[in-house]
Amino acid sequence: MSPRKFFVGGNWKMNGSKKEIEALVDTLKKGVQGDAVEVVVGCPAIYLQHTASILPSNIALSAQNCYKVSKGAFTGEISPAMIKDIGAPWVILGHSERRNVFGESDQLTADKVGHALSEGLKVIACIGEKLEEREAGKTEQVVLSQISALKPAIGQNWDKTVIAYEPVWAIGTGKTASPEQAQEVHAIIRDWLKNEVSSAVSESTRIIYGGSVTGANAKDLAKKPDIDGFLVGGASLKPEFVDICNSNA
Ligand code: PEP
Repeated sequence: MSPRKFFVGGNWKMNGSKKEIEALVDTLKKGVQGDAVEVVVGCPAIYLQHTASILPSNIALSAQNCYKVSKGAFTGEISPAMIKDIGAPWVILGHSERRNVFGESDQLTADKVGHALSEGLKVIACIGEKLEEREAGKTEQVVLSQISALKPAIGQNWDKTVIAYEPVWAIGTGKTASPEQAQEVHAIIRDWLKNEVSSAVSESTRIIYGGSVTGANAKDLAKKPDIDGFLVGGASLKPEFVDICNSNA
């Protein structure tokens, strides 16, 4: 039995309406019961407040992004202080869409992670290689360079951080990493934590997998020893998200 509590995050991305979110939350309320799994849903900023008001107490709320300072002349941005203020304890940072669609660097991601943690938010920090990097045999190098960039920002706050390994080629493509492919990278990350941070942090930090996880493939992935849960995009908008939340049962 793993010492780490199974963790499932839903990343709704730029999807949903008040009505659709209400229906989804209703499904989650009925299907996700008890506290054997930690469930967090990542909601568009504009719906955070509304979602906070309807979520049951066993499902936590996350923003999908935030800026690296607490306030000021940064039109369109939201700060960790604001996210906390409306009752959301989590934020997703470094998602591949932030990195690759919006051009956010390792340094900006690290600055955001550091500031969010210093403001008391918990962070789902995403890393992962692109297809051409995997094909060039650079997966380990890319993933470890991304996590190394976050290390100073995380500091002593590993207990407030979940690492999401999300190979970019698997996100939204229907091409899930095989349980063996995901386990291989998760073990590399866990080993890095042991060597670069501490054995205790390596044993206690959740490393979750993201990339076309579905109700059908979650159970096999969840059996792997270093896969501590999932970050789920597309399937988090469907009733099958409940099956993913319960895939470790
Ligand atoms: C994600 O957005 O983090 C993700 C993994 O998406 P999907 O599950 O749709 O591949």
